[in-house]
Amino acid sequence: MKANSSQAILKLLLNMGAGFDIVSGGELYRSLAAGADPSKIVFSGVGKTHAEIAMALEAKILMFNVESEAELERIAEVSTWLGCQAPISIRVNPDIDPRTHPYIATGLSESKFGIDIQTARKLFSRAQSMPSLDVIGVDCHIGSQITELQPFLDAFERVRELVLELKSEGLPIRYLDLGGGLGIPYNGETPPNPREYTQALSERAADLNCTLIFEPGRVLVGNAGVLLSKVEYLKQTGNKLFVIADTGMHHLIRPALYSAWQGIQPVTPREGQPVTVDLVGPICESGDFLAKDRLLEPVEAGDLLAVMSAGAYGFSMASNYNSYPRPAEVLVKGNQFSVIRQRETYEDLTRHELTPDWL
Ligand SMILES: *Cc1c(COP(=O)(O)O)cnc(C)c1O
Repeated sequence: MKANSSQAILKLLLNMGAGFDIVSGGELYRSLAAGADPSKIVFSGVGKTHAEIAMALEAKILMFNVESEAELERIAEVSTWLGCQAPISIRVNPDIDPRTHPYIATGLSESKFGIDIQTARKLFSRAQSMPSLDVIGVDCHIGSQITELQPFLDAFERVRELVLELKSEGLPIRYLDLGGGLGIPYNGETPPNPREYTQALSERAADLNCTLIFEPGRVLVGNAGVLLSKVEYLKQTGNKLFVIADTGMHHLIRPALYSAWQGIQPVTPREGQPVTVDLVGPICESGDFLAKDRLLEPVEAGDLLAVMSAGAYGFSMASNYNSYPRPAEVLVKGNQFSVIRQRETYEDLTRHELTPDWL
């Protein structure tokens, strides 16, 4: 869900039979508001609060993907309070290098995510002995924007061994959650296609007798979205030409956060030679850029630009920094289109703020 959690997008995916991988009470709220079936919701994330755990138990989600021993104890405690059993899986860290950006690699031993397989073994038997827990799955997610099949297969082999071992010890493992992370082409990458990826994994899992769960985010929505922007100014300084747009890191933080590359295309091409530019936004941060040293088709102030591949981790990571209202979202299908999120107003910016009467 964190790639794009707009209600209309969730509804579209629901209509196609999707469940949801949530990481917060807010995402649980959003998924239920969109009409999700709780029995197709899994709850990941390292920081689940008491309130979030209680909310998910009350909603009767499919399972919690547990990320630490302390969390396991907390889930057991909350389910005891509520007089129910919590369905859980443990997120194991297979210690595989997904060869992606370090900020989006999650399956290495130095990551804050998951539990190394050795420790997980002990935790599984501990969980099995706790009456308020129902151990039903094994979970693993090694990172994001992974463009090769091999890291997925390597991780799978380690998880597969663990599942066989747990089953031989009598644990009723019924779900194997293989996470997300399948990459997309931003700039000519050639990631495995989803069919190739799911076939490779489901073939290898055939004898495990587990329901496989996949948590694709980016690959579903990334290349379905563009961020439309208007060029405000051209600014030449020293030997650099800046194209200053009316959008930036506040609406699409990926370039600033992980030096991500996003395609940029003028909506209406002009005649002339491409020039090397930095495409930047209006935010008062040097890190506020959408493209650096990029060969761009010629543009002038007033032109519209499409920032490509903005459907994943775009709006869902947008903020109001520098007090810019967040943009409208529009869903397009063939020649149909609908506004699915209204453009924020200035009133929205201060809506939840209070001024103490002693000021
Ligand atoms: C972010 C995340 C995903 C989705 O990752 P994508 O790269 O967008 O497919 C899936 N599972 C977990 C646990 C995540 O944190």
